[in-house]
Amino acid sequence: MKACVDKETCIGCGLCTDTCPEVFELKEDKAYVKVDVVPPDLQEKVKEAKDNCPVDAIWIEEL
Ligand code: SF4
Repeated sequence: MKACVDKETCIGCGLCTDTCPEVFELKEDKAYVKVDVVPPDLQEKVKEAKDNCPVDAIWIEEL
């Protein structure tokens, strides 16, 4: 699984970075994904972050 953030849409609320700091990080008020591939044990947390993003800026690509 890959996680992606649409930086145009992200409002920098910090929810995804709180939910899964292993994958998401805030930089200049935008979230970015710091891993190339999401490890299996973090996939549920990434899905949770995606579902909870208030502006739907996160999407997931299955590999
Ligand atoms: S939850 Fe969504 S809006 Fe908030 S920082 Fe993450 S990607 Fe951006």
